[in-house]
Amino acid sequence: MVALRKQFCVSLEDIKFVSITCQHCGATLTLDMTRTTESQTEHKFFAPRTCQVCMEQHDSAIANLDNFRTAYCSLSAISKRLTFSGASEISISDRDADKTD
Ligand SMILES: [Zn+2]
Repeated sequence: MVALRKQFCVSLEDIKFVSITCQHCGATLTLDMTRTTESQTEHKFFAPRTCQVCMEQHDSAIANLDNFRTAYCSLSAISKRLTFSGASEISISDRDADKTD
């Protein structure tokens, strides 16, 4: 029996942008993870707290992108060795499930 599984896998070095879609108006803002704008420097945070189109507050969880970007920058030296995917190729629990003792 052959099983096919669709899996998305991306290297950290291939990730450069993050997009935020406003929950109020649907506008999307794309931020470059590799650069810092004057506005970001001035406001001392990476992710804007309000939508630049409708001026409503973003969900408070959006502020966590600041921490994500800090981690992203600190991992840049080893970004070629880091990949993200939806599932692992072989997990420990998969191996345990195959035991027949
Ligand atoms: Zn908006």
